[in-house]
Amino acid sequence: MVLDKIKYDQLAEELKQKDASLIAVSKTKPVEDILRLYEYGQRDFGENYVQELTEKQPVLPADVRWHFIGHLQRNKVKYIAPFVYLIHGVDSLKLLKEIDKEAAKCERVISVLLQVHIAMETSKFGFDETELEEGLRQSSALKNVAVKGLMGMASFTDDQRRIAAEFGSLKRLYDQYRKPYDFSVLSMGMSSDYRIAIEEGSNMVRIGSLLFGARQYS
Ligand SMILES: *Cc1c(COP(=O)(O)O)cnc(C)c1O
Repeated sequence: MVLDKIKYDQLAEELKQKDASLIAVSKTKPVEDILRLYEYGQRDFGENYVQELTEKQPVLPADVRWHFIGHLQRNKVKYIAPFVYLIHGVDSLKLLKEIDKEAAKCERVISVLLQVHIAMETSKFGFDETELEEGLRQSSALKNVAVKGLMGMASFTDDQRRIAAEFGSLKRLYDQYRKPYDFSVLSMGMSSDYRIAIEEGSNMVRIGSLLFGARQYS
């Protein structure tokens, strides 16, 4: 169930007050639901799966800005390179170089965020602090990718202080590299923790279930 217009407007206003942009995470959701939000005025949508994204993109309005927020496999970069607006989850130098290569073929510069591993859980993808420094250093030589900032996901826990601490650690890295690398985007926060993320300095939140209702995986 897509949020009604009044509630959407409330959320959009809350985020606007905090200077945070809203990415509507539409993975698993049908095109009709995306169009509903599009009619409300939403233009930024996030998807996690390449195949799903490449099926939806051609049937939705051309001015939708598509964010790829999932774990991206190198051999699939070519399918989204022609149109993707921002790739959030770049978690290795190899992937960054592949995006650069495919972007060059499309004569584009693709904007990306480097994903940093901030959660205590071992399953989450991302650079650690040392790898991040090296990744950023090497990214400067790549002509067809523009690193716009950082992305991270907090641990899946009810412990609000731990979530805040993890987001806080990403904000510190963002501040450290913001000037030298001309960052403008700090993507952190989802339905359950976006308010904490904004408190900690996020300026881009990725919200799915709060907008579209709970996801059902078959
Ligand atoms: C699914 C997903 C989201 C949105 O999650 P919700 O809890 O539904 O808001 C945000 N970010 C990433 C990386 C996701 O995979």
